[in-house]
Amino acid sequence: MSLIETIIRSDVREREAYHVPESGGYLKLDAMENPWPLPEVMQQQMGDRLSHVALNRYPIPNYMELKAKIREKLGVPPGYDVIVGNGSDELIAIVSTACARQDRRAKVLAPLPAFVMYAQSAQFAGMDFVGVPLKPDFSLDMEAMREAIRVHQPSILYLAYPNNPTGNLFDTEDMLALIEAMKDTGLVISDEAYQPFAQASMMPYLPRYPNLAVMRTVSKLGLAGVRLGYMSASQELLTEFDKVRPPYNVNVLTESAVTYALDHLEVFNEQAAMLRAEREMLSAALNALPGVQALPSSANFILVRLENADAVFEKLLARKVLIKNVGKMHPLLENCLRITIGTPEENRQFLESFRACVAQPV
Ligand code: PMP
Repeated sequence: MSLIETIIRSDVREREAYHVPESGGYLKLDAMENPWPLPEVMQQQMGDRLSHVALNRYPIPNYMELKAKIREKLGVPPGYDVIVGNGSDELIAIVSTACARQDRRAKVLAPLPAFVMYAQSAQFAGMDFVGVPLKPDFSLDMEAMREAIRVHQPSILYLAYPNNPTGNLFDTEDMLALIEAMKDTGLVISDEAYQPFAQASMMPYLPRYPNLAVMRTVSKLGLAGVRLGYMSASQELLTEFDKVRPPYNVNVLTESAVTYALDHLEVFNEQAAMLRAEREMLSAALNALPGVQALPSSANFILVRLENADAVFEKLLARKVLIKNVGKMHPLLENCLRITIGTPEENRQFLESFRACVAQPV
């Protein structure tokens, strides 16, 4: 046996690494990024601020200032705290590690299609992942969800609100019913990565449900490169998750940059409002194309269904337009493409290319 075969887990060896396509020179509408850079004045102020950060020191591990800013600015209920992570990806990994008990094989449940990291992180931590298909209209299949909860007694249920890659918000009453159904046996994580575009949140329900956690990120707001996620839940849960968190997981530059950015939250909120307006415009324009169905979205992307999605995706690539082909992710997504909302100019360029690609015979 080779060294790799001897030391690396077989399920890891069999995996492909998370694939990020080359995007240099492309109109990049594949990763739900905010298309605008920081305004110039903010770039200068941020640069000045970051130049004074003590890079020779470790971060203060309780991240007091950053957490206070998050609580103050981002709608965390009074009396509730947050845990911070290197992106919400790391928070998912932290929760998995904390919940992967070995005395009985713990399970993770999520409706599918969903964000891929829920299943991947469960697997890496040694938990079983149970996926329950959404209904064809992408709403929760409540009967199937209740049955899965009854049969599998999952430790964690992820509900992305809005969901990725479908873009819709699940019904609040359905979510509350599932939280209720798992009250004494499992944690429900409302993953609100796209909250700035949905303006809906489960945050107000935290005090009512001790088995609810609300996870968010600053990525989609406009700081994807900074890598900061946060999650609010009861202090009891946060205390346990904090034991698993690497002590200096958020670096001092991220801490300082986000603390500064949240003092200017209105700038990001205005950008989110512009993206919401662009989303409605783009959605209407796509729906006006014959054979193209843009699904209702509360996020900064739109899922479209069309014939020959693979061919259209390839033609767009040839025109240097990069979106995401999600058709192979799940049977419900057959012939679906996901388009991130860009600046008005980017959206105009995209529409022009998309129209041309859809009109061309295959
Ligand atoms: N949750 C959902 C639903 C996502 O779509 C993403 C990123 N695409 C994340 C979490 C991770 O975000 P980040 O690690 O950038 O905070």
